[in-house]
Amino acid sequence: MTNYGYHSLKMPTASQQKGNDLSKQKKEMSVTTSWDDGCPEDIKMIHLLNKYGLKGTFYIPVKNRERPVISPSSIKEISQGFEIGSHTFHHQILPGLSQKEMRREVVEGKNWLEQLLGHGVTSFCYPKGRFSRQTIQAVKNTGVRLARTTRAFHYYGSNNLLCLNTSVQAFPHPSLIHLRHGIKELNILGLLTYIIQLKMTGDWQRLARMMFDIAATSGGVWHLWGHSWEIEAFDLWKPLEEIFKYVSNRTNAEYRTNGELAENQQNRGINK
Ligand SMILES: [Zn+2]
Repeated sequence: MTNYGYHSLKMPTASQQKGNDLSKQKKEMSVTTSWDDGCPEDIKMIHLLNKYGLKGTFYIPVKNRERPVISPSSIKEISQGFEIGSHTFHHQILPGLSQKEMRREVVEGKNWLEQLLGHGVTSFCYPKGRFSRQTIQAVKNTGVRLARTTRAFHYYGSNNLLCLNTSVQAFPHPSLIHLRHGIKELNILGLLTYIIQLKMTGDWQRLARMMFDIAATSGGVWHLWGHSWEIEAFDLWKPLEEIFKYVSNRTNAEYRTNGELAENQQNRGINK
């Protein structure tokens, strides 16, 4: 007998129906934040992050000629709920240093934090976002697993964990500065996203929300970064809180530190 496709007309079972509903839902995304330089205002930052259930990584140098660095006891306090990453010993721009100096900056900054915290530190951030092929290799040789850059406007993490991209900086840069940064950092993909999808807006809160919506729809990564000293100096705590509120308590989001994000991407085979 001819079947006439009878089976294909069967009503879907409850579990099939549930599966279809799930497939229509947005995919799981990762939400992470990172804060550079280890300023005293980082303590205020952890309270705000905790208020909204957000996670993050604090990249801390041992010394910084430009501004004060928080005390070892404050670093320990932050480490109770957040990841601590290294940021060289002297907050030193790495490209241009000799191999020996470069290695010393990376190794000693990492060792100092490890001794203080009593555990390994495997996340790193390039001071001023400056890195080169030699720098990446030097960082890799010290056992660092991920190294964050300042490349913005990415919503899918990074192919290379030693050049971890970000989504948006919590700072009101004018459009021209975003374009200049993108060109200087050879951030072609980020520039295209900024020009085409984000319409080159200079409104950082709008950028943060738009990037979040894109990452949420595509099941990607939303990574906000900044400096708590800038948030203080430019009176950005309120606008920042509005953004934290916007991205918090989302059912499709996993809130992660940078290290947890790297682990998740490795597990999913996004990075080798
Ligand atoms: Zn820095």
